Amino acid sequence: MKSLYEYNYEQMQEMAVEKGWKKFRGHQIFQWLYRKRVFTIDDMSDLSLETRELLKKEYFVSPLQLKEKQVSKDGTRKYLFSLEDGSLIESVFMQFDYGNSICVTTQVGCNMGCAFCASGLTKKRRNLTSGEIVAQVVYVQKDLDEQEKRLSHIVVMGTGEPFDNYDQVMNFLKTVNHDRGLGIGARHITVSTCGVVPRIYDFAKEHTQYNLAISLHAPNDELRSKLMPINHAYSLEQLMEALRFYESENNRRLTFEYILLKGVNDQMEHVQQLATLVRGIHAYVNLIPYNAVDEHGFQSVSYEEAMVFYDALMKKGVRCTIRKEHGGDIDAACGQLRIKHLNENKVMK
Ligand code: SAH
Repeated sequence: MKSLYEYNYEQMQEMAVEKGWKKFRGHQIFQWLYRKRVFTIDDMSDLSLETRELLKKEYFVSPLQLKEKQVSKDGTRKYLFSLEDGSLIESVFMQFDYGNSICVTTQVGCNMGCAFCASGLTKKRRNLTSGEIVAQVVYVQKDLDEQEKRLSHIVVMGTGEPFDNYDQVMNFLKTVNHDRGLGIGARHITVSTCGVVPRIYDFAKEHTQYNLAISLHAPNDELRSKLMPINHAYSLEQLMEALRFYESENNRRLTFEYILLKGVNDQMEHVQQLATLVRGIHAYVNLIPYNAVDEHGFQSVSYEEAMVFYDALMKKGVRCTIRKEHGGDIDAACGQLRIKHLNENKVMK
């Protein structure tokens, strides 16, 4: 059995043709999934009973089951889902001035092992399929339908390293971006990577309009290697070279994410190094208040300290922003809700 969300628009039409149906039937199924957002094949009422029965033999709609939903005072919603094999994943909905955004998970656990991140507390169990990533977006959109809110933005920043699951993530993007799918504009979709250099080259060559964000978090190799093991495989120099290639192929502005960890990467010497590192790249730096993860022992800087870093960086001519915190009253940090459940149930899912 397979989820119908696994097929992008073209693939759905091919599937219909393979079954001896008209291509148009693939189109109809796609409409039911993404426009009407039904969760059962029985609800696809303009397909004949026979067609529906045939589909049901091989397919179902959503692979997700809601386990828990937390709603914050600021409108942030956090969803914990279980998958067909019992794995647990999280998705987060956030409201901004510019629109409504969902943060999706791409892997069950993560192998990147960043020292500050909750997701890395459990090793990767497996990649998500594209359908499992699509399902998160449709579920949350459906949850918003009753309030007539529309998801306008997607950030691929949940648990997992999207460039360690490249093909499935690219297929997911096709479906949610397709104007017969959810129609979320590519310029409103951001893929965030810790710096898997070969995939940055692949991504650059796709020439899409999706935004690329790079989790930088340290401005020199010594510190970055301590915080992010990926830096042992690909140094800052290799990363920057890949980003210059990306720039030469795409006329898109990059984002550098930089979590401010108190006493670790927030000193004036880091401002200087950071400014030198990103000079000449069409990018801005997003300074992120750290969501403390109990197990790791890092501390966030205060807002005032973040402002000092911000001002110093601006003075050096680097464009930057400070990310506003969301959902402070719920388990908001990446992977925290899932970890909590795993601990409570003492199982590794
Ligand atoms: N693996 C990808 C995407 C998932 S992490 C990546 O590394 O970019 C998404 C972002 O959240 C990354 O910038 C990551 O470093 C950051 N992050 C992880 N844990 C965090 C925490 N506790 N507080 C704030 N940001 C965190």
